[in-house]
Amino acid sequence: MRRRVAPELPSGKSRLVKLKLPWGVFSKGTHPLPTQPSGPACQFTEAWTPAPLLERVWVDAEVVVLTFGLPDPSAPLGCGDAYIPCVLARGGRDPATGAAFVRPYTPMATTGVGSFRLNVRVYEAGKLSRHLAEMPVGDFLEFRHVPPGHYAQRFLAAADDVAFVCAGTAITTAFQAAERVLRRGRATRVRLVYGSRTTASILNKGDLDALAAAHGDKLVVTHVLSREPADSGWRGERGRVDRGVLKRHLPPPRGSVIVYVCGPAGLCDALCGGGGDGPPPPRCFPSGRRKARGLLGDLGYDRRAVCRL
Ligand SMILES: Cc1cc2nc3c(=O)[nH]c(=O)nc-3n(C[C@H](O)[C@H](O)[C@H](O)COP(=O)(O)OP(=O)(O)OC[C@H]3O[C@@H](n4cnc5c(N)ncnc54)[C@H](O)[C@@H]3O)c2cc1C
Repeated sequence: MRRRVAPELPSGKSRLVKLKLPWGVFSKGTHPLPTQPSGPACQFTEAWTPAPLLERVWVDAEVVVLTFGLPDPSAPLGCGDAYIPCVLARGGRDPATGAAFVRPYTPMATTGVGSFRLNVRVYEAGKLSRHLAEMPVGDFLEFRHVPPGHYAQRFLAAADDVAFVCAGTAITTAFQAAERVLRRGRATRVRLVYGSRTTASILNKGDLDALAAAHGDKLVVTHVLSREPADSGWRGERGRVDRGVLKRHLPPPRGSVIVYVCGPAGLCDALCGGGGDGPPPPRCFPSGRRKARGLLGDLGYDRRAVCRL
């Protein structure tokens, strides 16, 4: 039988492919793909590879930070620098079918030697997240590399002023994207608006401080705390990531601007429009309208300036 070979695309062009997976429908290749992948390749390959759980730290009642050892302890995880990294994790066991659960995660500390981290929100009825919350330290979880272009691994567009708006564990995606934008040096300014519950539940605080220190006033991080005790002495933004916060901390909707928004679904729906339960398929540049949808549209951002990661 002859194998069908996809025709070559002219360089910089993209193809839209919908992937229907058990946990959602994902568009593949919605942005132009870079012709030259760069940065160290991911240590994980297409084959499932076991990695030991080295440490588990609870940040609050629902979020856990897990550190895993790497197959090559003398090298970092890698993952290149054009895309937001993503790994597939496999573990646990479905009592009905005996099959292990497989879910995608965005790794942190991909440049640290010998280990990497996952920030995981643990759901009450979550299959793999609950396994991750309970598996003994020292046990192994299996990982696979996810090739660029799958899931929401957006190729990050170039703009002078780049902003990220995120909350909770979605900081991992925003951090990785912001770090890559800064490393590639195209944007003159990167702003990150990050919603957490309290100062204690701010994830990746050390990584954010180090990134800000390395890039000076090119990176501006604004924390917005929704449940910080009134008497804590916190002088920053309080409440939800709302219209006022966006107006105060995002670049104005003029010139070369792009605003990336990443999960949870409620935040994304409010800022970019949309609706429905559960993780929605990632959308970028909703078609058919010039004005973006949701709060960002109301604030005057063009649909080409808003991207849901
Ligand atoms: C590209 C990509 C990267 C991701 N990176 C991360 C990451 O770094 N950290 C992280 O924690 N997650 C991440 N996720 C989500 C992750 O893949 C799982 O979907 C999540 O851990 C839940 O899996 P589960 O098996 O525990 O829950 P499931 O068994 O799949 O779901 C069981 C129940 O959990 C609840 N639930 C599951 N997901 C959600 C949700 N999003 N919102 C509300 N309720 C939900 C619902 O009640 C659902 O019925 C990422 C997803 C994608 C697509």
